[in-house]
Amino acid sequence: MNRLILTLILFCSTLLAQSPILINTQTEIDDFNILVYEDKSTKLTINEISKRDDFKTVNNHISNGFTNSVYWYKFIIKNQSSKNIERYIKTSENILDKIDFYLLSENKVVKHKKYGPGYFIDGEKNKLERAYLKLNLKKDETLTIYTKISSYYPMFNSFHIYDKTQLENFEYNYTTIYSFLIGSLLSLTLYNLMIFFYTKDTTYLYYVLYSVCLISWQTSMSGIYPFNTFSNTQAYYLIGACIPLVVAFLTLFTNSLLDIKLFSRKYYLTLNTISIFYFILAIWSLFNFKPAITIMNATASLVLPFLLYIGYKSYKAGNKIAIFYLFAQGFFLSLATLFSLSSFGLLDYNYLSRHGIIIGSFLEMILFSLALAYRIKLLEEEKLLIIQKAKNNLEVKVQERTKELEESKKKLEILANKDYLSDLYNRRPLFEISNKLINLAKRDNSDISVLLFDIDKFKVINDTFGHKAGDEVIRYFAKLLKEDRRTSDIVARIGGEEFVIFQPSTKKEDAYNVAQDIRKKVENLEIKTNNKTIKFTVSCGVASLTKEDKKLDELIARADKKLYEAKNTGRNKVIT
Ligand code: GH3
Ligand code: MG
Ligand code: MG
Repeated sequence: MNRLILTLILFCSTLLAQSPILINTQTEIDDFNILVYEDKSTKLTINEISKRDDFKTVNNHISNGFTNSVYWYKFIIKNQSSKNIERYIKTSENILDKIDFYLLSENKVVKHKKYGPGYFIDGEKNKLERAYLKLNLKKDETLTIYTKISSYYPMFNSFHIYDKTQLENFEYNYTTIYSFLIGSLLSLTLYNLMIFFYTKDTTYLYYVLYSVCLISWQTSMSGIYPFNTFSNTQAYYLIGACIPLVVAFLTLFTNSLLDIKLFSRKYYLTLNTISIFYFILAIWSLFNFKPAITIMNATASLVLPFLLYIGYKSYKAGNKIAIFYLFAQGFFLSLATLFSLSSFGLLDYNYLSRHGIIIGSFLEMILFSLALAYRIKLLEEEKLLIIQKAKNNLEVKVQERTKELEESKKKLEILANKDYLSDLYNRRPLFEISNKLINLAKRDNSDISVLLFDIDKFKVINDTFGHKAGDEVIRYFAKLLKEDRRTSDIVARIGGEEFVIFQPSTKKEDAYNVAQDIRKKVENLEIKTNNKTIKFTVSCGVASLTKEDKKLDELIARADKKLYEAKNTGRNKVIT
């Protein structure tokens, strides 16, 4: 029972297979089944093939992968229309190595046409055009056509039956779309080449080289002018070497764009190794095209997802540029995978699986360009940040420096106003401040007294105990002068061993008492230096402000007179 059904199905499918492709008025046909025979020996001739009846029926989306076999396709075409028609049977691909069309009439070849780079004759130029065969079908006529195809590239293809206008339209549309995509890629490439010349940043160079290889590969594979004309087979296969180069430069570009070196040395070295591997494959493909391209195709399906993974890792590590990279690689990878699966014969040949890669590349290159532009922005921001930091540092330093200067100035002022030995004011501040205070006192009729002290027989102290001991005496006396002073009092050293106490709001009697108090304290003072005890006395003249006084000099002059008197009358006394 099962066998009967199987036989029936086989019979029906044979019937279907042998039924001709019917043409009436439609001008474009590509939705039909075709008959195929795989010749593994590659030796069969058209005569042998035309006698065979073991062709298989397959759909018109041919995807046989990389193969060494020769494939024979058989078409039986019948003109069902009421008039004679002209049609063209055509391949959708132009990269197939050797294509032979045979038109048979009464089992005899009446027409034979050859296409493909495999038929290049050395020294003769060949235009890489899509193979086609012109058919003239009379009313109700049936023609049998055989097409023999062998290919170095993956064997994917689809046949179309067109009238003349459709044939021209197809080429026109195909070329227009590809020219637009490739023209855009070329502009981006040139733009980035300029930036490379200007910046000498190798990331741009990798972009340009990647793009140039991609464009060369895509244009040659699609027969776009000027990449559709080759002087010999080798020149054509040279273009094939661009495919491994695409992966090599993409890998280098990834390494450079994402600064993988900074993020992981392991990944950086892995990517470099991958690119070297693909450079070797590119060179190998020049000598042994098929195995090199097969290995390249197989490994690329691992490398491209790996690049995506690296992009993801970099993004996770905080690299903002990686987001553009992820989208770009995502597009390219999904569409390249379709292409790869199709070229291995694992997926039907269709528009997306065949042309997706150029659309993927187009989107990818735009996003890569954006990533490069964004990179400039990030670098600019980084630069600004560094400048800002340097500026802030500078400001902090300037502030510190200003503070230091202010402190130094204060110290200088103090040094300028103070006597370093006694730590009392010197003449300058005393005269400045006291003259202002005298003016104020004269205005509100208040008192001012000036006490002028001179150490008695100081020369003798110096001579007996030494100059250092004399200094010590000055210091002790200065300290004593400052003790118990009101804050409004000004104590100053105006000469070698001459001192002044300027007392605002102080009457002569009170000043006298203060002077006596000091004189007595000095009298009882014992200074011990170098195991010796120094005792000394002081004399003092006191003067107070009178209505006639205008400046401190006048007061000091009067006090000096009193001091002179004290000296002359025995010393160690206060005279007012
Ligand atoms: P008199 O009682 O008359 O004032 O006698 P005197 O010795 O103090 O006389 P005079 O005022 O003329 O002498 C002042 C001496 O003070 C002269 C100088 O060598 C000394 N002298 C001035 N300045 C300093 C100082 O800064 N340190 C020391 N050790 N001696 C000083
Ligand atoms: Mg003296
Ligand atoms: Mg003196």
